Amino acid sequence: MPDCDLLIIGAGIAGLSMAHYAAEAGLKVLVLERESRPGGCLHSHRFNKASTEFWLELGAHSAFNSYGNLIAILESLQALDCLIKRAKVGFRLYADGTVRSMPSQMDIPELVLAPFRLLGLIKVGRSVADYYGRIVGRRNYTRVFGPAFDAVICQPASDYPADSLFQSRPRRKDIPRGFAFSGGMQTITDTLAGRSGVRVELGQTVRGIQRGGKDFVVKAGDAHYTAPRVCLATSVAVATELLRSMFPAVAAQLAEIETATVETVGVALPAEQVRLPPLAGLIGRGEPFYSAVSRDTVPDAQWRGFTFHFRPGVLGDEEKLNRIAHVLKIPRTALSLENVVSKINQLPSLRVGHGERTGHVDALLAGTGLALSGNYFTGVALEDCVTRSRAEFERLRREGL
Ligand SMILES: Cc1cc2nc3c(=O)[nH]c(=O)nc-3n(C[C@H](O)[C@H](O)[C@H](O)COP(=O)(O)OP(=O)(O)OC[C@H]3O[C@@H](n4cnc5c(N)ncnc54)[C@H](O)[C@@H]3O)c2cc1C
Repeated sequence: MPDCDLLIIGAGIAGLSMAHYAAEAGLKVLVLERESRPGGCLHSHRFNKASTEFWLELGAHSAFNSYGNLIAILESLQALDCLIKRAKVGFRLYADGTVRSMPSQMDIPELVLAPFRLLGLIKVGRSVADYYGRIVGRRNYTRVFGPAFDAVICQPASDYPADSLFQSRPRRKDIPRGFAFSGGMQTITDTLAGRSGVRVELGQTVRGIQRGGKDFVVKAGDAHYTAPRVCLATSVAVATELLRSMFPAVAAQLAEIETATVETVGVALPAEQVRLPPLAGLIGRGEPFYSAVSRDTVPDAQWRGFTFHFRPGVLGDEEKLNRIAHVLKIPRTALSLENVVSKINQLPSLRVGHGERTGHVDALLAGTGLALSGNYFTGVALEDCVTRSRAEFERLRREGL
């Protein structure tokens, strides 16, 4: 007897939303996760300060009322009461060693013509730099928009496909435009992992997938699990390796998708130590960091927090802390093991023509019993992952799951 109807590898938002759809349909579902916590890029570090539990996002920090599939899932689990409207604070640029407003850095005459340059300009097939650079003008792109787009996707955005960066989706008017969650964004994946009908096994690193008769046999540590359907919901690099022997043509397509690394460092500080005005975050221009995302969007009476997303391989650990102290204008000694936390994040680097590649992948997957979900299909946003899981679940259902 197989261990479950659907085995999912990876308990990030892609894997857990897939598990949710399967559990809703009454299927027996098992999720294997290599880490000791579910969530993947949804990672809210909880500092457990003496008087209050202060959390800081080490990965995704915001969701929007255009995330219809994600909102529908949370609604069905009655989890929307954990939703917190983001405070109205804006992003600033950190350039030439100081905090600057975005408008102060723009070339207004160049920007005035933007609506006319937009007319008839097609997004599909263009890179971010090509498409948005034409609209806002080269000077504005270099000084403001380019660094802001890098900050949005935590990697150099210029060669990214313009149609994958922002996608227009219907908005739920009854939900705040931008929102977070009490306890942090990880509350989303904690809720999904804890829902009835979903079994998550933590600390299980999947090392191989094979066929065993009609079923897939999935190897994790010393254990073997069997299931008639498998969904891989890991990073693209892991999916490539796991598929190499059994699905070499799919693996060959996935191997072409590059991965960007982000060196993330979060710091929590007593509010009175930080003199910066409340802000959503700082966008680095000419800096070793893409952004410093602030917790001021969900203000705390006693603590402030900043998560610096550093470019990879530029600064060592000590240099990062020195840079953080310099930007926040605090003494270096204010940063210690107590209030600093770090993480390596990875994201796919999509390129123009990516849609054709995923089209090939989908054609190869048809009828195999294997599903692929994650942030390397239409885009990296949480909603892209959930939408992909929903589409893959519906395909598996059509194919007999
Ligand atoms: C710094 C940062 C900020 C972001 N900000 C936002 C934001 O504000 N809003 C937004 O919409 N999106 C944001 N994103 C993007 C979004 O968070 C991610 O694209 C999304 O969470 C990815 O989900 P996933 O499930 O595809 O992958 P992941 O979250 O990477 O999950 C994959 C899971 O698979 C597990 N795994 C890997 N290999 C194995 C194995 N061999 N066996 C078992 N388990 C395995 C991993 O441990 C992980 O838990 C951000 C991303 C980053 C990195």
